[in-house]
Amino acid sequence: MHFFSTGRAAKVARVCAGRVRNSVIIKCVSLMLPVRGVGFALCIGLLPVSKFKQYRLMLASLPEGVSEHDFTLDSEFFRNMENPDVLGSDVQVHLRLEHKNDAYYCHFTLRGSMQIPCDRCLDPMEHEVDTEYDLAVKYGPEYDDSTDGLLIIPDTEATLDLSQLLHDTAVLTIPMRHVHPQGECNLAMTELLRDHHAGEDADEDDELSEPDQG
Ligand SMILES: [Zn+2]
Repeated sequence: MHFFSTGRAAKVARVCAGRVRNSVIIKCVSLMLPVRGVGFALCIGLLPVSKFKQYRLMLASLPEGVSEHDFTLDSEFFRNMENPDVLGSDVQVHLRLEHKNDAYYCHFTLRGSMQIPCDRCLDPMEHEVDTEYDLAVKYGPEYDDSTDGLLIIPDTEATLDLSQLLHDTAVLTIPMRHVHPQGECNLAMTELLRDHHAGEDADEDDELSEPDQG
């Protein structure tokens, strides 16, 4: 079962919406490059349904007290999540979970780095991830994620799939605008994209023509 709270879902949607235009450009540009994505696409088609198995928490069988869990968000994880905005990843997740009074108090720490396309030249750039997230999980009559920081899951769910939560937590660390440090962009690609954008409504796009502000 995938879940994420309403507020976080809206934030992820906003972050993703800002990138739709560049995703279209990436597709156009990739037509001019060797077809590297074909291998990945074939792999996804052949993957078993349980590709997120290692992100499942055996919640119902956890004894009272504290337990520690580790997960890795690697490049394959983001490919399986079908997120084209993450080109590569090596993020370590540590979960400290305290089970008491019929509740599971989860404290997630995410550290590592992701490779994401630069907004200006689309070449990969390093994005450092260092964030924490708290979530209380309780059993109840029905699924409810309407309260920030609290998740109610049905009594029938023995396990909790953390893949969507971990994906969103990592993706929300990406700033709306992310570019290489000044002078480090792929100049040829920047100019190609500027030409491409010259044919579009200039009001709609200023990020390729504006001077770098770091
Ligand atoms: Zn760049």
